[in-house]
Amino acid sequence: MSEPHRPVETARKGLMLVLSSPSGAGKTTISRRLLEADDNLVMSISVTTRPKRPGEVDGVDYHFIDPVSFNLMVNRQELLEHAKVFDHYYGTPKGPVFDYLAQGRDVLFDIDWQGTQQLAQGARDDVASVFILPPSMAELRRRLERRAQDSAAVVAKRMSKAAEEISHWAEYDYIVVNDDSDRCLEDIYAVLRAERIRRQRQTGLLDFVKMLREGR
Ligand code: 5GP
Repeated sequence: MSEPHRPVETARKGLMLVLSSPSGAGKTTISRRLLEADDNLVMSISVTTRPKRPGEVDGVDYHFIDPVSFNLMVNRQELLEHAKVFDHYYGTPKGPVFDYLAQGRDVLFDIDWQGTQQLAQGARDDVASVFILPPSMAELRRRLERRAQDSAAVVAKRMSKAAEEISHWAEYDYIVVNDDSDRCLEDIYAVLRAERIRRQRQTGLLDFVKMLREGR
């Protein structure tokens, strides 16, 4: 699944690859595998007021912060987008994202539909959004129960929230059904590769084509 060798590299603007899905549809695993497969892709690490789950690491999975600090970040306009999801607040710190994009790196976001709308409002041309659908609601429930990090009450709440999240599928650029995680990963990687070669993102093309036309 590696990128073919490119003998010619032209300057490129980074893109924002957004993945959304109801929780349990496999987004976390797919994100991890995409990041492992591609050196130019980096994860946007969100801030959240939700408590840390067992196994989660502060600064890796999220920056876990208290509601007062979260509000401060909102008021100082330090977040690119933010939303309330299941009783807790989540947001994307602006600074690291802008730094990565300026370096020509692509940034992966695991955010909900509210955040995706806000990103698209701010920078539509820089966003490629993918919605991951579960193969069935029964399978989604199985995956949530298997994860077993959350209590039965939380699983029930996440199931009822799933239908709401899914209702926003049509706002996304690409839709994949996660019935086979390898296939799903291939499809999302294909999206990333195609989005990278969009003409308007290849800021170095003008000079490159000028050079070609000069016979160099
Ligand atoms: P979880 O609590 O399971 O990690 O995430 C719950 C939901 O919040 C997921 O759908 C996830 O995509 C979303 N989420 C995580 N970080 C952010 C963020 O920074 N902004 C927004 N809008 N949603 C987020």
